[in-house]
Amino acid sequence: MALIVQKFGGTSVANLERIRNVAKRVARTREQGNEVVVVVSAMAGETDRLLALAKEVSPRPSQREVDVLLATGEQVTSSLLAMALQDMGFPAVSLLGHQVRIFTDSNYSTARIQSIDGSRLERELKEGKIVVVAGFQGIDQEGNITTLGRGGSDLTAVAIAAALGADLCEIYTDVEGVFTTDPNICPEARKIPKISYEEMLEMASLGAKVLQTRSVEFAMKYNVPIHVRSSFSEEDGTMVVAEDQSMERVVVTGVTYKTDEGKITIKKVPDTPGVAARIFGPLAEANIVVDMIVQNVSEDGFTDLTFTVPKGDMTRAVEIVEKVGKELGAKGVAWDPDIAKVSIVGVGMRTHSGVASKMFAALASEGINIQMISTSEIKISCVIEAKYKELAVRVLHKAFGLGEEAVQEA
Ligand code: ASP
Ligand code: MG
Repeated sequence: MALIVQKFGGTSVANLERIRNVAKRVARTREQGNEVVVVVSAMAGETDRLLALAKEVSPRPSQREVDVLLATGEQVTSSLLAMALQDMGFPAVSLLGHQVRIFTDSNYSTARIQSIDGSRLERELKEGKIVVVAGFQGIDQEGNITTLGRGGSDLTAVAIAAALGADLCEIYTDVEGVFTTDPNICPEARKIPKISYEEMLEMASLGAKVLQTRSVEFAMKYNVPIHVRSSFSEEDGTMVVAEDQSMERVVVTGVTYKTDEGKITIKKVPDTPGVAARIFGPLAEANIVVDMIVQNVSEDGFTDLTFTVPKGDMTRAVEIVEKVGKELGAKGVAWDPDIAKVSIVGVGMRTHSGVASKMFAALASEGINIQMISTSEIKISCVIEAKYKELAVRVLHKAFGLGEEAVQEA
């Protein structure tokens, strides 16, 4: 007998027919002799609908109330799934975040899980029940309802799997697994049978949408094996697990892209100690997350600094930088929202050389200009003009042989 956590995303519970199908799948897992905890998202589109309602009532709704509102989406699906299971003759019980006792900090809309009390879950399981947990929500120490950030049901599932020491966390979604790149852009994209936590973490934060980034971080920390798979098929999906030696043989595992950042350049600031701190300090204070930063070599004692920020924060960031720029005597501030970041990811990069030059050559072969570059041990990202995004993804996917059969083994 195994303990399995199964998480079903919004499209998997989008209507009653699908909820019944989910119930059947859960029931089957139970009948195979496993203990099952299910975590559900809200019905597809529901969280956005609720957010729009809040915005309609007030342009700046209180964050606390927004979380109270958003948490209702998952309350609906958890109770409906429990009912569907009961209707099929299975003992099931729904539990909300506060009933499980998922404690978080008080950062509404992006709360971090601090602890999970497994005792209620364990008691229900011991009584033979299938427990259906509302994903995406918790409570802070004061008892306020909090939510865990968009896509946060993934995190609920992984965190519960960790707290209970589950054997497996299955994430059911509307795609077959994690792909070498977005199949909508590149038809040659293939399902990756097995990927390391580290690679998955990079892929998720660099644009792959299949798993919430924080859930992967959590899984890595607590070594929770994840199986990402489709709720509409029986096929195996992608296992996300600790790195093993077979993974290093593949140089590049995936190609990702992101278009949610813009680029800001502050021109000709003095190249002296403290200047970067004066520019990036106020941005940090304004809670603006700066991603890539490039500083050019200075010849005349002045330098250009270019960096990227989330598009939603562009206007605020430009305002701040223009102000600091004036104080520093900068020549001006330029900005460009029309960029894309394309990245290649793979643990094999650690042991293979020439990966970066191959990437640059591939982009050059299509006449794509690279505006910024950043690297880590297992990824290389390039900022390019947004209109070349799809072309760049395809050419990189091809250059690293990702469309070819049997470059990886399960
Ligand atoms: N319903 C939430 C969202 O749409 C959480 C989730 O689906 O994981 O972001
Ligand atoms: Mg999701």
